[in-house]
Amino acid sequence: MASQVNGHSSGSDAHGGKSLREDLQQFLGGEALLHELDDLTKVNPVTLETVLRCLQARYAADMFYTSAGCTLVALNPFKPVPQLYSPALMGEYHAAPQPQKLRPHIFSVGEQTYRNVQSLIEPVNQSIIVSGESGAGKTWTSRCLMKFYAVVAASPTSLESHKIAERIEQRILNSNPVMEAFGNACTLRNNNSSRFGKFIQLQLNSAHQMTGAAVQTYLLEKTRVACQASSERNFHIFYQICKGASVDERLQWHLPEGASFSWLPNPERILEEDCFQVTREAMLHLGIDIPTQNNIFQVLAGLLHLGNIRFADSEDEAQPCQLMDNAKCSIRTSASLLQLPEDPLLETLQIRTIRAGRQQQVFRKPCSQAECDTRRDCLAKLVYARLFDWLVSVINSSICADLDSWTTFIGLLDVYGFESFPNNSLEQLCINYANEKLQQHFVAHYLRAQQEEYAVEGLDWSFVNYQDNQACLDLIEGSPISICSLINEECRLNRPSSAAQLQTRIESALAGSPRLGHNRLSQKPSFVVVHYAGPVQYHTAGLVEKNKDPVPPELTRLLQQSQDRLLKVLFPTDPEVKSQEEPSGQSRAPVLTVVSKFKASLEQLLQVLHSTTPHYIRCIKPNSQGQAHTFLQEEVLSQLEACGLVETIHISAAGFPIRIPHQNFVERYKLLRRLCARISPAPHSPFPDEGHSEWSPHTKAATLQPLLQDILHTLPALTQAAATL
Ligand code: ATP
Ligand code: MG
Repeated sequence: MASQVNGHSSGSDAHGGKSLREDLQQFLGGEALLHELDDLTKVNPVTLETVLRCLQARYAADMFYTSAGCTLVALNPFKPVPQLYSPALMGEYHAAPQPQKLRPHIFSVGEQTYRNVQSLIEPVNQSIIVSGESGAGKTWTSRCLMKFYAVVAASPTSLESHKIAERIEQRILNSNPVMEAFGNACTLRNNNSSRFGKFIQLQLNSAHQMTGAAVQTYLLEKTRVACQASSERNFHIFYQICKGASVDERLQWHLPEGASFSWLPNPERILEEDCFQVTREAMLHLGIDIPTQNNIFQVLAGLLHLGNIRFADSEDEAQPCQLMDNAKCSIRTSASLLQLPEDPLLETLQIRTIRAGRQQQVFRKPCSQAECDTRRDCLAKLVYARLFDWLVSVINSSICADLDSWTTFIGLLDVYGFESFPNNSLEQLCINYANEKLQQHFVAHYLRAQQEEYAVEGLDWSFVNYQDNQACLDLIEGSPISICSLINEECRLNRPSSAAQLQTRIESALAGSPRLGHNRLSQKPSFVVVHYAGPVQYHTAGLVEKNKDPVPPELTRLLQQSQDRLLKVLFPTDPEVKSQEEPSGQSRAPVLTVVSKFKASLEQLLQVLHSTTPHYIRCIKPNSQGQAHTFLQEEVLSQLEACGLVETIHISAAGFPIRIPHQNFVERYKLLRRLCARISPAPHSPFPDEGHSEWSPHTKAATLQPLLQDILHTLPALTQAAATL
């Protein structure tokens, strides 16, 4: 309350020549100034409705950023707003004595973060956690922040060092188009949807100049290579190659103009992301030379041809499936592009080898048509996922600074937001699990920040009413029994288990959890987790299989036979780096499931985040059609709920829900003094004169607390009296 007034906050020269009635209207309503209120914790009172109204008013006034305590809410303008991201504005925030006093902006968060790492007393690594649903603007925001740091943390002075600095900053920025080409795709919700999570650490030296960066990715949606929902597309890179390859390259990669690929749906859509040249140039800047690039694109073309292979069930079950129509040609082309022997490729897709018995005899069993399809898709996913990881490691080796050339970092986290669809599976479970973890981290930080603020204000208060989401995390990941442990157990036991059995196991083993909801809606076997952002129903069908993510060892062995330079790197035969996908026979070695790998990477991430001072940016999509000037209350409301802002408001309400900047407090309540004087001109008015020392900008909230209570007592009488005015 004693905080100083932001130059852009509400708080006008309230009285001037205005009538008492006008004063009173403003006091009771204040609607006209709602868009000027740039900190949601100062909305009075803090409720979902007032927050929503404030955001809507600001959106209508082209004010896309609003503070919410230690969070910045970013509304997606869905239209170019170049002046909002200009180098001049970057400079303004960078040069401001107190950037937090300027309009809320990602540059304000960026600059504050940058100043924190420069603290002379105790430089602490920083992180900016950008969250929000698909299409809300997370990647856009992260990219803008990277550009901001490339400007403000650039190396100055000597020509030589400037060149070096430019190279590293440019290289770091170049990692974006490359990672987006290979990891982003057009979905129903976003034309440029990131299909992986990303944490990038911008490394700074002791002079606070950016000397490098390190990227960590999470949970690439590799199934998209072989399976795209209707109206969605594969990863951008496939379209880029098909649209942008030269005549020679087309010949080389067997991609004739107009060729049709079943893994390349909706090629007619033209997106700005389809720019092959941008990707190639960015790769070149990152040190991926032309021959290596061509090698990558040749492998990707091989995958496209692989996707055109079709099988038909054989009439004789003992015989392998037949190849359909043009599939013979597709398999030949694919084998040649992937530099694999053609017959073993076909055989690996058609026939399963099983080792059994004491002597580990090998049995060969022809696969059904569906099994052949699964093996084909699995091959593509395996190659693409390894290629993506390899690219990330190449990018890292190109942009990562030597250990001794950086001292602090600023981390940018761009992860998928909370998800709840009609059909939720393992992917949503992992994503929502990550969001629960981040929410817990956020709440811990937020509570700490609030308590510190109350301490400064001299308020005596403790968060007695607040419940954190530990119970939900216990349900998902706790020990000894949790959803994760039960799903992992099913994978380990490798027993035939129906979806209904899994539901029963989860529901009976975890019946005591307050966060296990009731499955009332769905006929399908499922369980419900009551997340902080709402209940989500997860279907159990296919959950265990997805968690195993099995790769037939024959596929890995086949790829190890490739003569292709890149595939040799991706699938080395060196036993030291033996593929972890290969099951170890009948042994009971712990199975590395999707969930256990994800959990490990999440814990690692949280460890890093815990070692930093976090800053939060919550991106909000004002409508799902991607239209400018359209603010749909229902849609925004559900995002406010999902991104935990409601929780934050609850926490805030559990503390002191009303926060009025000191100056505004004076402007607002000195009117009450006038009114009080009119109603009862008692000499003992509880409201001190505005010139009194108690109104000084340094007055602590604790001092004003009794005063507020008096106001509350007098308010009904005042309102009644006001009605008669
Ligand atoms: P996903 O989770 O699917 O990856 P996302 O949150 O990363 O989604 P973005 O790709 O960053 O979403 O944003 C979606 C689109 O919204 C962008 O392609 C861009 O067109 C638009 N957009 C986002 N932020 C802004 C902005 N600040 N100004 C203008 N347009 C924006
Ligand atoms: Mg994104």
